Amino acid sequence: MADRVVTLNAGSSSVKFALFAADADWPQLIVAGTVEGLGAKPRFRVAIAGGETRDAPLAGKLTHKQAIAAIFAWIEDAYPEAAISAIGHRVVHGGLRFAAPVIVDAETLTALREFIPLAPLHQPHNLAGIEGACEAFPNVPQVACFDTAFHRGHAFVDDAYALPYSYYERGLRRFGFHGLSYEYIARRLRAIDPIHAEGGVIVAHLGNGASLCALKGGRSIATTMGFSALEGLPMGTRSGQIDPGLLLYLLQSDGMTPKKLSRLLYERSGLLGLSGVSHDMRALEASQEPRAQAAIAYFIHRIKIEIAALTAVIGGLDALVFTAGIGERSPRIRAGVVEGLGWLGLALDGTANARNDAVISAPRSRIPVFVTPTDEEAMIARHTIETVGLSAAAR
Ligand code: AMP
Repeated sequence: MADRVVTLNAGSSSVKFALFAADADWPQLIVAGTVEGLGAKPRFRVAIAGGETRDAPLAGKLTHKQAIAAIFAWIEDAYPEAAISAIGHRVVHGGLRFAAPVIVDAETLTALREFIPLAPLHQPHNLAGIEGACEAFPNVPQVACFDTAFHRGHAFVDDAYALPYSYYERGLRRFGFHGLSYEYIARRLRAIDPIHAEGGVIVAHLGNGASLCALKGGRSIATTMGFSALEGLPMGTRSGQIDPGLLLYLLQSDGMTPKKLSRLLYERSGLLGLSGVSHDMRALEASQEPRAQAAIAYFIHRIKIEIAALTAVIGGLDALVFTAGIGERSPRIRAGVVEGLGWLGLALDGTANARNDAVISAPRSRIPVFVTPTDEEAMIARHTIETVGLSAAAR
């Protein structure tokens, strides 16, 4: 039977999975799917690679573990010949310890639980995914792939906050996130444009969560997210950059509780908070509300500021890449950013941009601008294959 690898990405109310063939140089997608609405009215959708999307049956409210059991039952039914050789998991936080994917054992799971306070909205669900998969397949290796790992080599000045040094030693640092996406894009760019990929590149991962990463020679040098996934750009519902003095004011003068402050910053701010309309860029672009338009202008403004700052960090820009939901599909946001950075040597090809082409810079642009779809699942599958030694190259 052929080696197959499953990837799992367990979030607060959903579990995404993908099934890959592991026998080629790069993992080949067979099918991907999502169970959404956990704890409420769950729905299970699958998309066959290059084929149709359909609903799969589900019964009743589901916990994460039940959703994972349903996913594996579906795979077994639909692909009875698939021998699952390894399962790869997206884990948001690897702390200081994990700078590379790791095969999970009891000791690793204990270590990963210690990072729950660092990513309370994601880490518990990621770990529930691992536990569910371990129960379903106790003899199959489980590999944890971290969103923080790609950023672990940052220089002190990009890793530290200017708090007393003992805080840095305790691990209160700028971890950065979206690392699996950035690693995938860095690899793709090496195939698309090997010369520029070796230089200074900024990748704009603009989705519901949004951040930028500055690469040099394909390695992460700096990123806009920090200790938490709140720092940097404004996002669907997260504030992004904010003056810590404002938070002190809310705690002290407004008497806000930490719980309410957390809700404010993670769930009620960003594009949703500014617009009062939606967290969703498509809805904002379609809205006539002045505040929706102001939220879009704010988003573009902050992206421009952060691109300029990261350009300084890497000593000049050789290529700009847009990815994730907004980056891949919003000509308006890309145009706002690229046209606002004309002084840096960027020029847009409006027609290519409107078509979401792979290259959207004009021929006269000093710096090429790419639209490159990200694929975190394939990156997880690749890490999983390498970590357990399944790939032809590893054998
Ligand atoms: P992601 O988190 O990567 O799935 O991205 C989700 C974001 O992408 C949401 O804000 C969507 O509104 C946005 N998005 C998806 N398609 C489009 C589109 N065609 N135009 C503008 N925004 C889009």
